[in-house]
Amino acid sequence: MSPELSLICPMYNEEENIDLLLSEVTTALESSQISYEIICVNDGSTDNSLKLLIDKKSDYPALRILNLSRNFGKEAALTAGLSAAVGDAAIPFDADLQDPPEVIGRLIAEWRKGYDVVLAMRSDRASDHPAKRVSASLFYKFHNKISKQKIPENVGDFRLMSRRVVKEILQLPENQRFMKGLFSWVGFKTTTIEYERLGRHAGASTFNAWALWNLALEGLTSFSTAPLRLWLYLGLFFSTIAFFVGTFIVFTTLFYGSDVPGYASMIVVVLFLGGVQLMSVGVLGEYIGRIYLESKRRPSYIIEGEY
Ligand code: UDP
Ligand code: MG
Repeated sequence: MSPELSLICPMYNEEENIDLLLSEVTTALESSQISYEIICVNDGSTDNSLKLLIDKKSDYPALRILNLSRNFGKEAALTAGLSAAVGDAAIPFDADLQDPPEVIGRLIAEWRKGYDVVLAMRSDRASDHPAKRVSASLFYKFHNKISKQKIPENVGDFRLMSRRVVKEILQLPENQRFMKGLFSWVGFKTTTIEYERLGRHAGASTFNAWALWNLALEGLTSFSTAPLRLWLYLGLFFSTIAFFVGTFIVFTTLFYGSDVPGYASMIVVVLFLGGVQLMSVGVLGEYIGRIYLESKRRPSYIIEGEY
């Protein structure tokens, strides 16, 4: 008989968190009176995570371990976990216990009222560094301005999704997977609860500023073509200006003759337009890079084994 709930924990070097994670989520799930499976996806950890997990199998019969063949990143690890899940609902759950396990019960309660998606929204981001708070907020505002598909602010991957939602997400064919975007793209009847997000129990986040910037680019380019279209309008704007300035120069030259000076204005225009053009080529490159990666049709992860 398949369990009602699949809890999916992507793990990259979480050896210090495994013990507490398993005991706390088990307590939370038992008190919610639901049948469940816990799928830990080992995303190519270089520490002892896999061995520790395998040792825990005897204490936790509901534990399933998927071992990826290397580190594929959290988005891929989550996808692997969702594909393996057999529950009527699934909840992605970070292994570092930043999301309190007690909230799982509240998600389940809303699901039982008939919602397909229950979002867990952080009531504040006090546990985040101020710079991350500001940049995250800017990202969501910008993303939601330029994309038709809005992603809710202050909602992470932690949420409950019913079987049919999971089924639709798994059917999406792309292998560059920005999960937060895909989750909201599929839609369905959604509700939101609020909770307080804590700091990491142990270890350090692997999402540094550079990784977050890349994730932001991934999100923007996966869900909007506005950055491509921008150059059409910038081009139109500059061509219009160039037309009037050109006409002015031709006439002044015809009537007043030409005076050679003008180096300063010329070099400014050349440098400025050169910069603008390089930026537009960069944006084109960003999209072409994604088409290139997507066109290879490689799987987003490889499973080494299930334990
Ligand atoms: N994670 C993963 N693969 C990676 C990086 C992270 O599976 O390449 C997991 C990690 O073990 C954790 C979750 O994704 O369970 C969230 O990672 P982290 O806490 O580093 O991110 P943050 O909470 O800072 O967004
Ligand atoms: Mg974390």
